[in-house]
Amino acid sequence: MSLNLTVDGERWRSHLLRTVRTHPGIVPVAKGNGYGLSVARLARRAQWLADHVDDTGAAVDMIAVGTYDEVAEAASRYAGDLLVLTPWRPFGAALDLDARIATRVVHTVSRREDLSALREHDPDARFVLEQLTSMLRHGMTRRDLAAAAAALGSGRSGLRGVAMHLPLNTTSHLGEVSRLINDIVASGLPTRTVFVSHLTEAELGRLATTYPDFTVRPRIGTDLWLGDRGALSVTATVLDVHEVERGDTFGYRGRSAPKQGHIVVVSGGTAHGIGLEAPTGDQSLKARAATLARGGLDAVGFVRSPFSIDGKQRLFAEPPHMQASMLFVPSGARVPCVGEDIEVRVRFTATDFDRVVIA
Ligand SMILES: *Cc1c(COP(=O)(O)O)cnc(C)c1O
Repeated sequence: MSLNLTVDGERWRSHLLRTVRTHPGIVPVAKGNGYGLSVARLARRAQWLADHVDDTGAAVDMIAVGTYDEVAEAASRYAGDLLVLTPWRPFGAALDLDARIATRVVHTVSRREDLSALREHDPDARFVLEQLTSMLRHGMTRRDLAAAAAALGSGRSGLRGVAMHLPLNTTSHLGEVSRLINDIVASGLPTRTVFVSHLTEAELGRLATTYPDFTVRPRIGTDLWLGDRGALSVTATVLDVHEVERGDTFGYRGRSAPKQGHIVVVSGGTAHGIGLEAPTGDQSLKARAATLARGGLDAVGFVRSPFSIDGKQRLFAEPPHMQASMLFVPSGARVPCVGEDIEVRVRFTATDFDRVVIA
């Protein structure tokens, strides 16, 4: 009846342990929809990791949440420090932190004026300074870092490191990271800890040898929780099947079947994040004429769906509904039974599953 995420528990847990052990200083990221698994479940799992990797010397003493609104959900399930990735601002949810939780939070500060405002708001606040990268999202320039160093002085402060958020999939981050680390050194900031994202294992290794006096802590979400895709399977349930002849009408818009086949109603709709896929391939008039000539269903306006039956991706008979979708299966193909599970390809970060089963 549901859109299900089934996790092969043993395989998943061994991937998590392996990832943590090969990334000393890792900061697991648990944010948003929890990569499909929920922030609460990831926070609990991070505590489990903290309890299970200690014997190897690796520690999971900090996790990262995305926003201040996510802090409470993680804090009740994970006992260590909570880094908030969204930069602190002198307004909104950042000011509403429960005082008992605030002592476990590490803030991200990305503007000069916020550094003084945060320290005024909470003199004991712990924080990282975010450095501006080629992403141009948030962060301080080398000048801002130097000003922050002057403001903090060399004594004890809440400074826990410098954070940099790097773009995905560039050929190499090392040039940029080296420049950024040199800026930290030049700024005179009294820290040798940097928090990074999206570096490969090889890049992390190179940094460790190039900057032996620095501690590089990788923030990892996707490659940790979703890194072993083979451990995860997403299925929808076939809820109904109707045979149709060419010309029979169906659906909210009363459209007619372009040929004989079956309407297959499956669980999973817009509320789960199931959406229309990009139209298939080449949409030029000539290409459409060619598919039409071949009897292709995309030519009559059917759009590819993320649902597959027997390994073949099927077309939506009409756009997904709130919690169900109607697929068109042309005659000749095997018709699934009511109650059968079929495969769905989803973006985990944009999907709300009805059930997550860790088997
Ligand atoms: C989401 C996020 C990460 C983790 O990214 P993944 O690609 O899921 O590993 C790291 N750093 C920051 C600042 C983020 O927002």
